[in-house]
Amino acid sequence: MNLSTTNPSHAKSGVNLLRAKQDLRDALAWPRRTGYSIGLVPTMGYLHEGHLSLLRAAASRCDVVVMSLFVNPAQFRPGEDLERYPRDEERDLALAGEAGVDIVYAPPVEEVYPQGFATHVEVEGLTEVLCGDPDRRGPEHFRGVTTVVAKLFNTVQPDVAYFGQKDAQQAAAIRRMARDLDFSVKVEVLPTVREDDGLAMSSRNAYLMAEERDRAAVLSRALRAAEQTTLDDSLAAGLDAARRELEAAGIEPEYLEARDPEEMTPVAELNGRPVLVAVAAQVGAARLIDNVLIRPRDQKLR
Ligand code: AMP
Repeated sequence: MNLSTTNPSHAKSGVNLLRAKQDLRDALAWPRRTGYSIGLVPTMGYLHEGHLSLLRAAASRCDVVVMSLFVNPAQFRPGEDLERYPRDEERDLALAGEAGVDIVYAPPVEEVYPQGFATHVEVEGLTEVLCGDPDRRGPEHFRGVTTVVAKLFNTVQPDVAYFGQKDAQQAAAIRRMARDLDFSVKVEVLPTVREDDGLAMSSRNAYLMAEERDRAAVLSRALRAAEQTTLDDSLAAGLDAARRELEAAGIEPEYLEARDPEEMTPVAELNGRPVLVAVAAQVGAARLIDNVLIRPRDQKLR
């Protein structure tokens, strides 16, 4: 359904653009009372096909779709790319409207973090490794993510919320938070959308110069090699194959590791359960992440 066609607040895109959480609550009161299902897709904007796949899935499965558009300062470290993070609200609104979004919630920072804000939501353990290693983005990054997503869950009270497998550790943290804190929302994690050469779509790909953009495709090639070699031989051989691909392209990964996809604990061999192989690397000005979920062959057939 399209809640906004009768009175879109953003005429060009046909979406209802809201900046205040009370307006968002008010806009959702009637559909909720009527029994319509509500889908939420949190984003930081600068939309690409990865975001659009989540929005289209939400639009096909839910009666009302809310997209949040908020570059969340709490998930950036001092000195990271908060200021230069790419933004284009007009384009995002147009794309969101085409993808079937009804409401875009794009609050200013003070609406999310008013003066005196002091409460955080932290998922322990699984957020302290990989990107959450204190020498990398640190657990504070995920604390910023889970805090803002908890606030969105409270305000929107969605039936379903959609996230991308591209950010596998983030998705695992959100799943765990929803379970531990009894949020009555179904967390759906959808596959990574890629460019033709395999590069995982990301707003941060905009930082890549042409030569770096071509080199960046090695991350997905390395992960494909890891999957193939793991299934043919062993996980250790798979990680070696990936490392060789990266080396050949002159890329030293920040990490390349095999982990349990839910707990994020290290995994040494394929053991009848899916294994997440995750990689992070700096390519030019962009810090890129990607991953593959390796399922044992007999599970793939199902
Ligand atoms: P972001 O705007 O980067 O915070 O991403 C918003 C949502 O889109 C998150 O759930 C991401 O995991 C998801 N996402 C980002 N890139 C992709 C991609 N290439 N494929 C699928 N989902 C993605």
